[in-house]
Amino acid sequence: MSQPLPDSIPPDLFAARADAIAAAARELALAGWTPATSSNFSMRVDSEHAAITISGRDKGKLTRDDIMLVDMQGRAVGTDARPSAETALHTQVYRRWPEAQAVLHTHSRTQSVASRLFAKHGVVRVEGWELQKAITGHTTHEGVLEIPVFPNTQHMPELVAHVDAWLDSGNPLSAYLIDGHGIYTWGRDMAEARRHLEALEFLLACELDLRRLKA
Ligand SMILES: [Zn+2]
Repeated sequence: MSQPLPDSIPPDLFAARADAIAAAARELALAGWTPATSSNFSMRVDSEHAAITISGRDKGKLTRDDIMLVDMQGRAVGTDARPSAETALHTQVYRRWPEAQAVLHTHSRTQSVASRLFAKHGVVRVEGWELQKAITGHTTHEGVLEIPVFPNTQHMPELVAHVDAWLDSGNPLSAYLIDGHGIYTWGRDMAEARRHLEALEFLLACELDLRRLKA
């Protein structure tokens, strides 16, 4: 690694996280979910630090050198590189869920269209789909999976406050959409975060298809 890491972080650990983030980003880019350098990805490194994508890089060509270290307030550690503009949303997840190890944020067409369509309701209510069981904590298709849709803003503290307000009113949360923007989800490891993201993409596409067919 070119950047000096704090002594408490083994270089191999950071490199492993950076490689895992870069590999996930390349695969999600291939799926077409990260158009025009959008999207950002992170993994927890320890209780005080996360590895996250550097702002503005092509996610289809990401390598470990495109990943940097931030503290849990979203400040760069040991580098002049600029973290994603949305770093505060990643570190919020790590602060609120000590077990969270990976956060994925993508801008697929399905996610973007669904966010616009459901913004007026403030939430997408998904029920009756077998694939809801891919979301940790959901054990049956008979349950309801609620994915809130928060208004988009370039002012991250506002978005952080929306997420906090949702959680502080006792609502479960495994993912959220931002209107006209994309989705955030996370997991206890990269595999769980990927499973959540793929399931959510599928469920949102199904909900959109149903509305198209009724039209
Ligand atoms: Zn974004």
